[in-house]
Amino acid sequence: MLQRARAILKENFGYSSFKQGQEQVIGSILQGRDTLGIMPTGGGKSVCYQIPALLFPGLTLVFSPLISLMKDQVDALDSLGIPGTFINSSLSFDEVEERISQAAQGEYKLLYVAPERLESARFLNCIRALTVSLLAVDEAHCVSQWGHDFRPSYRTIEPFIRELPHRPVVAAFTATATAEVRQDIVRMLGLRNSECVVTGFNRENLSFSVLRGENKREFLLAYLAHRKDQAGIIYAATRKEVDNIYEFLCKKGYTAGRYHAGLSDEERASNQDQFLYDDIRIMVATNAFGMGIDKSNVRYVIHYNLPKNMEAYYQEAGRAGRDDEPGECILLFGAQDTQIQKFLIEQTLVSPERKSNEYKKLRSMVDYCHTPHCLRKYILQYFGEENIPQECGNCGNCNDNNELEDKTVEAQMIFSCILRMREQFGISLVAVVLKGSHSKKVLQYGFSNLSTYGLMKDRTLKQISDLANILIAEGYIQLTEGRYPVAGLTPRAYSVLKGQEQVYLKVRQKETATAVDDSLFEQLRGLRKEIAQKNGIPPYIVFADSTLREMSQYLPSDQQAMLAVKGVGQRKFELYGGPFLELIQKYAAANGIALQAGKPFGDKARKNERPSHLITLELYQAGGTLQEIARQRNMNLVTIQEHLIRCDVEGYHIDWNAFIPPQYEDLIAQKIEEIGAHKLKPIKEALPAEVDYFAIKAVLCKMGSKMQI
Ligand code: ADP
Ligand code: ZN
Repeated sequence: MLQRARAILKENFGYSSFKQGQEQVIGSILQGRDTLGIMPTGGGKSVCYQIPALLFPGLTLVFSPLISLMKDQVDALDSLGIPGTFINSSLSFDEVEERISQAAQGEYKLLYVAPERLESARFLNCIRALTVSLLAVDEAHCVSQWGHDFRPSYRTIEPFIRELPHRPVVAAFTATATAEVRQDIVRMLGLRNSECVVTGFNRENLSFSVLRGENKREFLLAYLAHRKDQAGIIYAATRKEVDNIYEFLCKKGYTAGRYHAGLSDEERASNQDQFLYDDIRIMVATNAFGMGIDKSNVRYVIHYNLPKNMEAYYQEAGRAGRDDEPGECILLFGAQDTQIQKFLIEQTLVSPERKSNEYKKLRSMVDYCHTPHCLRKYILQYFGEENIPQECGNCGNCNDNNELEDKTVEAQMIFSCILRMREQFGISLVAVVLKGSHSKKVLQYGFSNLSTYGLMKDRTLKQISDLANILIAEGYIQLTEGRYPVAGLTPRAYSVLKGQEQVYLKVRQKETATAVDDSLFEQLRGLRKEIAQKNGIPPYIVFADSTLREMSQYLPSDQQAMLAVKGVGQRKFELYGGPFLELIQKYAAANGIALQAGKPFGDKARKNERPSHLITLELYQAGGTLQEIARQRNMNLVTIQEHLIRCDVEGYHIDWNAFIPPQYEDLIAQKIEEIGAHKLKPIKEALPAEVDYFAIKAVLCKMGSKMQI
């Protein structure tokens, strides 16, 4: 059976190997065992019940929490050649009847429903007449009140299972791993003699970082400026904060969307769709957004406020990079955010036991924001993994090259000013006094007579309050709760004032941009968007970004080569492959690239190898020309060239002069500056024909981070 499962994975899904845990879960289900799969967001849970659904006789019933996503899930199945449908309140009575009768005739392998459906007696009667072989419960933590999305309707699943004429195999899936939740799922869903598969929680392609005391708006602008065509989510703690950020970004010219429980159903649905369809790139949202959203090309998830606990954080952050391409997870920590979360705990919970449980979890979340050690290690440890390496090399703390700077004197100035203002005022007024500005309040309270008045007059107000915010985040200054938080000193600040402790702070280097040519990738994306629109489905259902990226690197020239690309199965090839092949051929012809017919590559061939671009670098450093390396590695010249660019981006030194005809260097640079580096084609057209694309790219790399690309 597993053999068949593997064949389906390849034929329908286009993947040549299982992700971690999938094989075990599928194997266990196929043996007829109830199974609990605990996998991180993006770990590939759906495949775990979709493949058994195809192998079992009869129907697989999938309980999924969000009605709004069912259509997308079913569209995705359709594009994989898997017959499925959904039943929810968006359908008319007749449509529901029709789908059930089609299901009874065996036309569908999968039927998606929300647990609320179980309240309909009519639905129950119809379902009892069908053969349900497998019952899959997605987001199963919703059954537990210890989980972070308790849904009472999940509690009706267990009695429903008990009353079915033939008990199906029950499989439950969640990304929440705490012991209480796990036990609750087994108990509340009535799993019998179940197998529990916990996969590694590590998501290698995600990088994690925490920025403390940052000026958040400024950070957003700097960050987003380089990521105009990437999709990302910004999570904030409250509706009001979401609205504020949303309006701020709109004012700055970004097309953003927003999502929170205060908006109408229509507005939420429409915003969500626009995001899924790549019509808007940035989604600003509360934690109401995202459950079950399988948008694979989310490149970053920024937490503008502290989330309530690590479970919620990892699930939300995990929405980045589901396509296994790099994703950035950034948490902007401000000390006041802790107050918001405490307030929410007080507001929403009654039971003292649950309150103290939530406070404990919040504490771990705050600790995450302050650990000087590897962030990934902290996360994995939290989720109970063992044998975790000390350093991951892909998180803010592992990659922190910023020097510690001695800020003792400035800190003392700020602390002393707070003291002299009797710990009665907020940070902004403290900054005004230190700056020595005239303001009504300063005069009113006579602050201009303080010895600290104007002590930092050579700084801007912003510099002073930014520094104060870092000192808050680092625990030197504490703020009172409430609308107008007042700044006071902690014992640590007193030690600094007494000269017993020094203040060393990391000063973050500002963002730099990198130059990568993505012209084919962009064209493939454009084509994908057209096809998606024509078919009324989100672009990622056509092909994931990672699939397009692989196409643009390996330039498959025929069906066989195309099928070797990760994410292209037989069915998808038949549906969409043609136009993509055509586009690649056109691109190759226009750029003078000779295509080779498909030699196998993909997951298998690449496994266990060093990263391909580094192999190229080694050969290049050993003196090979790019043409020779291309021949030797049986790869395209363009691919080899891209390898060097990637090495440059990753910080390896490449002498770009070797690829730039000296007589044209100035001209190329001039054209890049005139035209901008967004598209290479117009630059190429503005230059003499003998200047090739790679020369332009080489100049771009040489100009490097000086360009705003
Ligand atoms: P989850 O529900 O666990 O968050 P999904 O089921 O949505 O994750 O899968 C996440 C992504 O991983 C999807 O884009 C899916 O197509 C992809 N995926 C699933 N299985 C594999 C596999 N074996 N190899 C590569 N990608 C996979
Ligand atoms: Zn790390």
